[in-house]
Amino acid sequence: METHFSKEQLKNKDNKSSEKILRKCVHCGFCNATCPTYQLLGDELDGPRGRIYLIKDMLENNKPANEKIVKHIDRCLSCYSCMTTCPSGVNYMHLIDHGRNHIEKTYKRPFGDRFIRNFLSIVLSEPINFRIVGILAQFVKPFRFIFPKKVREMINLMPGKFPKKTLANMNVYLAKNKKKPVARVALLTGCVQKVISPQINEATIRLLNRHNIEVVVPKGINCCGSLNHHLGKSDLANKTFRKNISIWYNEYLKNGLDAIISNTSGCGTTLKDYGFIFRSDENLKKKAKKVSELTKDISEYLDENVKLNFIKKNENEKEYKIAYHSACSMQHGQKVHEVPIKLIKKTGNKVLDIPDGHLCCGSAGTYNLLQNNIAKKLLENKISNIEKIKPQFITTGNIGCITQIAKGTKIPILHTAEIIDWYTGGPKPKILRKL
Ligand code: SF4
Ligand code: SF4
Repeated sequence: METHFSKEQLKNKDNKSSEKILRKCVHCGFCNATCPTYQLLGDELDGPRGRIYLIKDMLENNKPANEKIVKHIDRCLSCYSCMTTCPSGVNYMHLIDHGRNHIEKTYKRPFGDRFIRNFLSIVLSEPINFRIVGILAQFVKPFRFIFPKKVREMINLMPGKFPKKTLANMNVYLAKNKKKPVARVALLTGCVQKVISPQINEATIRLLNRHNIEVVVPKGINCCGSLNHHLGKSDLANKTFRKNISIWYNEYLKNGLDAIISNTSGCGTTLKDYGFIFRSDENLKKKAKKVSELTKDISEYLDENVKLNFIKKNENEKEYKIAYHSACSMQHGQKVHEVPIKLIKKTGNKVLDIPDGHLCCGSAGTYNLLQNNIAKKLLENKISNIEKIKPQFITTGNIGCITQIAKGTKIPILHTAEIIDWYTGGPKPKILRKL
């Protein structure tokens, strides 16, 4: 695609990167075919190619965003299905991130929008805030009809109660053989995940410790920063990124880290991008690159580094039919798709493919809160595709998808790490107790 940035504009590092990306696009439109919002809405501007043109126009012409541009960019899920399809290797992820930052700097959203986005930014990125709001939401639930639709939907989405943790909060979880661990990894325990589904981190820690791996949860790291990053709030996101990078890098230098484990694929995608985000920051670029290089999804880490001790089940043990939902951030963002399936198959169960598995379930970070109608439609489609194959349970590697899919079906859904933990000597996950 021809571009017309001036020399002055190209002195800005973000313009320079976006120009390179834009030049790769040959406007073939292949990406539209796998874009969930284009499939649903059928508008060119609700597909990747149209959005690329909108962003190009804003950046090249130094245009502030307007209501129309914001509408179409906001409808993008950041699912990156278009990146998997694109034959020219267009990095849509970096381009839309730049577009979102530009919108945040040049467009004043209506008061209601600003309020909700700021509210989500404050509440979801801090576990303590999320817990407090969750408790308050229980009290206002009976009166939710008095609130505007978006707030009502948010109240509906808050969990009824927060499950109790079974593992104490610690900075270091020792390996089975305390004196001779085979590796030492840091675990990102996440912001929302550790409040609503602590069993996922617990299964991950147990599983790693049982295979003689020491797990560190450094103090001070909660959110990975992707929530604010995707809301276009780059200052807030960068503050979190900087803090996380310093903490992890210090831990790496002082005590050694073989990997930084993410068990939430949305967060893992952002961690792997820290190196790009700080590519021009002289103080941080080396550290950010190292953090990105160390980051592994739990499934990748297990596959590449651990000889898993699967426990043979006796002959009477059922063979389950498990649907694997490949989260967009996992399959399109991190390009990790086959590995979790391979691990689940090693448990001796049957893994079923979900039709149209490349399409988003509608969760997409805060998307199900901000774009409720599109998210609902995507969820309906996902549930219909899952129910067609009649699995006994569903598994995935992202808390957002777990929460979203659980809203639409009675089929139990759990994290892949919980299954691997169970089949290597951990407890049977509570959600499967009736199976
Ligand atoms: S598939 Fe790639 S090259 Fe073709 S229009 Fe989409 S982004 Fe551009
Ligand atoms: S990220 Fe997803 S929703 Fe956004 S343009 Fe690409 S395919 Fe469409």
